[in-house]
Order: sequence, then C-alpha cells, then structure tokens
Amino acid sequence: MAGRNHLYIPGPTNSPHEVLSAMHLPMEDHRAPTFPLLLKPILEDLKKVFRTETGQAFVFPATGTAGWEIALTNTLSPGDKVLIYRFGQFSHLWMNMAQRLGLDVEMHEVQWGKGIPLDDMEARLKEDTAHEIKAVLATHNETATGVTSDISGVRKAMDAAKHPALLFVDGVSSIASLDYRMDEWGIDASISGSQKGFMLPAGLAILAFSQKALACLDSAKFPRCFLDLKDQMNSNKDGYTPYTPSTPMLHGLRASLDILLEEGMENVYARHHRLAEGTRRAVTAWGLKLCAQPGFESDTVSAIVVPEDKDARDVIAKAFNKYDISLGGGLSEVMGKVFRIGHIGDMNDVSMLGAIAGVEMALLDCGIDIVPGSGVAAAIEYYRATVTA
Ligand SMILES: *Cc1c(COP(=O)(O)O)cnc(C)c1O
Repeated sequence: MAGRNHLYIPGPTNSPHEVLSAMHLPMEDHRAPTFPLLLKPILEDLKKVFRTETGQAFVFPATGTAGWEIALTNTLSPGDKVLIYRFGQFSHLWMNMAQRLGLDVEMHEVQWGKGIPLDDMEARLKEDTAHEIKAVLATHNETATGVTSDISGVRKAMDAAKHPALLFVDGVSSIASLDYRMDEWGIDASISGSQKGFMLPAGLAILAFSQKALACLDSAKFPRCFLDLKDQMNSNKDGYTPYTPSTPMLHGLRASLDILLEEGMENVYARHHRLAEGTRRAVTAWGLKLCAQPGFESDTVSAIVVPEDKDARDVIAKAFNKYDISLGGGLSEVMGKVFRIGHIGDMNDVSMLGAIAGVEMALLDCGIDIVPGSGVAAAIEYYRATVTA
C-alpha cells in the first residue's frame, strides 16, 4: 500500500521528526565524563513536566508497567493494604499486580465509563480510622475507556478524611498531555512511560517521587533489585545509572522535553483538549456515544461505542486493512463494543481529521448508519473556529 500507516492508537503515539532524528546517532560511552551532562538536565527538566519542585524524577529502562512495580515495591511491604478503584483494563492490571505482589488489595468496582467516585472514596478513608490503608492507587487516565479521573478531587477527599496514605498516580496516558500537578495535588508517586505523551518508543518508565515516598525506601520490605530506587539514586546523584541506559532514548527524551517545554505545559494541555473536543464533536455528529460518561471524557483518548448489533473489531479491521489506519481496540470488558481514537502526542488538526475521515469510511463499510462527512464537517467547524495561529 502506498503512503504511510496512520497511527491513531493512544500509544505508542506518533513521534515528532525531531525526536526520531535525535535518536539516530552512534552508540556512546555511558561511563564517559560527559554522560552526566545528558542525564542530569533530563532529570531536572522532567520535574517541570510532572510539575514538582520538591520531588525527584527517575528514568528506568522499562515500561509503564514497571513504573507501577517501582512505586509499590520501593515504598510498601508485603501485606500492606492498598485502596484501588477499578474501572478499566489499566486499573485492573495495576490491581492485579498489587495482588500478585502480595499486597492486601481493597478493590472497589466502578462502572466502566466512570472514574474514581470521590464521595465514596472520602467515606471509605474516613472509616479507616486506624489508617490501615497505606496507599491509594489512582489511575488518572483510564486509557481503555477514555476516562479521566479528578486527581485534585482525590487529594481533597484524602485531606477531608485526614488520611495519611500515600497517593500513587498512574499517569501513563496523562502526564505530558493532561493537566497534571504533582506538588499541588500532593502526589507521592507519579508513573509514566515513554510511548504516550512523551512521544518516544516504548522502553522507558518515567517517574517522580515525593520526599514523603522517598522516606519509605528504608522501611519498605519488598525484595527489589533491578527496580531498586536507592541504587538508581546512588548513581543518579553523580549523573550516572546503575546499569546500561538506552542512550538513544535518552537523546530522544531530551528532544521531547525541549519540544514540550518550549510549547509550555499549559499549551500542551490546551492542544490535547482541542484535538479531543473536535473528535467528540465528530462522534456526536455520527450519532454515536463515548464510553466515558459526561464529566469523565478524556482529552488523550476517545473510546467510541458502536451500535449493539455491531462489532467494533470489524471497524478496526476495516480501517486497518482497507485504509491503513490503526485504531485502538476495546480491551477486556469492552472488547468488540468500543474502538478508540488517540489524540495524544504529536498530532494536529489535519492528522485528527485524517482519523475522523478514516473512521467514517470504516463505519460506513461496516453498515453503521452515519451521514458521510458529518463527523469531518463537525470537526472542521470546531477546529476552524478555535485555531489560534
Ligand atoms: C499504556 C498504559 C500502561 C501500561 O504501560 P506499558 O508501557 O505498556 O507497560 C499503564 N497505564 C496506563 C493508563 C496506560 O495507558
């Protein structure tokens, strides 16, 4: 097929040309005296993306999943109680990891399409007067359902309950894309990965920890080695890593940080919101609905529900096979019910319109009754009315 594949999944996302070129370079000596000149500024600049001044940033050669494990095993001990709300495949997998590690997991089920129920959480934390819950695990952006939870609200609920638990946030598909304020929201572990908002290949777990979380390293009894934060800190303080880093990816991360910080985080959030809103207007024009309930709509991914007598997997297959566009599938409980369009990373109005047009063709091919051009028209109208350049 001529032309290129159009990648509209919510990760890996599209990498800007500057990031791709920055990674195309000879291998280098990671023990050289010049290496800290690369690593140290990266760790400092990451704090601007996490929006923490008092916390500390880390990069591991791993993925977001390892980020979950780094947070849990470096701060907690087997048998500690953690509180988690499950409302999609990613919150499910994090819960599952906590169980498999031997934590005492208190899971509350939430309808897929909604996010963390703040009142419920506050009530539960108030009940826990003995402070048995050691950590709250919050999935900021549930990539499977296109649902964003209110993390500032989680902090308020914890404060209202005067609960001292640590707050861990999975920000894999929100950090560097959605409004995220580690210090202001009192987050103790921020977890991200390289292949979503950072617009890199998968392969880095990117994290930040509060001083409160770092104070738990000595008492945490989980065995850990490769993912040990103290080893990382010992090497990082001199600008090195405890084992061989992926130097090309660090150069890619440098380029990505330069792009994000030059644009400014507020502008990055606004851009994602605008691209998402155009997509949502298209969905409404098609007469379809999001999986996300009102108030929970994500600005990095839209999960779109197909009519009950249709299978979303056919839409995704048609889109890929006939038009060379990649859409996200429905995971687990929503398999076959939703397809997902990512609006995260290196996207602009026209790339978004490409996604919307391609989806229209695939929907029509699957016999889903939409007016051809209706979604594109709605998105065009919104993008033209709101373009700032
Ligand atoms: C992608 C994603 C993960 C998993 O990250 P990997 O890099 O695949 O390990 C975890 N949480 C969320 C919310 C994600 O979107």
